[in-house]
Amino acid sequence: MLIAGNWKLFKTPSQAAGFCRELRQPLDDVSEIEIAVCPPYVSLTSAIEVLAGSKVAVYSQNVHWAENGAFTGEVSAAMLRELGVDGAIVGHSERRQYFGETDETTALRAKAALEAGLKVIACVGELEAERDSGETETVLERQMIPIIKEIGAHERLVIAYEPIWAIGTGKTATPAQAQETHAFIRGLLDVPILYGGSVKPDNAAELMGQPDVDGALVGGASLAAESFIGICEAARQTVA
Ligand code: PEP
Repeated sequence: MLIAGNWKLFKTPSQAAGFCRELRQPLDDVSEIEIAVCPPYVSLTSAIEVLAGSKVAVYSQNVHWAENGAFTGEVSAAMLRELGVDGAIVGHSERRQYFGETDETTALRAKAALEAGLKVIACVGELEAERDSGETETVLERQMIPIIKEIGAHERLVIAYEPIWAIGTGKTATPAQAQETHAFIRGLLDVPILYGGSVKPDNAAELMGQPDVDGALVGGASLAAESFIGICEAARQTVA
């Protein structure tokens, strides 16, 4: 069970340090699950410093596939490793929607990150219109194929199923919808699968209690210590 907090474009280095100090002690008691925070690039070092020796891992929100080169604005897996980063999110729907991320570039980023020794959370998910028109499985299969071809099952690879209509909207997939969709994804690739989309302390236990839900990728509710710790506690109770 992994609970990862995606901070998106929030928390400066000093804010990240203060927030990680708040998380550190309460989360040291939550020993049965894995926990990660995903700060913006510039705040990675302060999170790593404050969380050193704690239970909480630090992931980046993206990573480039090249080792180095003429790729202005990008960051490589080796650079992140040197900083002490444990893993990376790739293919988040906001990267796909606003920055031209594709199924193929998502797989390239995931592959390079795994080869460099990072853990990877690769995100997939359908639009509301795609779910409404019965295309969810077709869309997910299309997104998963490059990952399956480029990588396949890997011990450091995790998929995050994030229905786009549930991200930051307060609408959550029902536990039954999450379970059904996770079972479909697991049929394509047998790796741990996180659910993401408006996970909160009060819906986490039911979602995390589904047999094919192996954790959560949390956006908004990961920005406040109380709600992030509450979600980690709820997840812990489902594995205890
Ligand atoms: C996310 O950013 O991956 C996410 C799931 O956001 P939220 O929890 O705010 O819906």
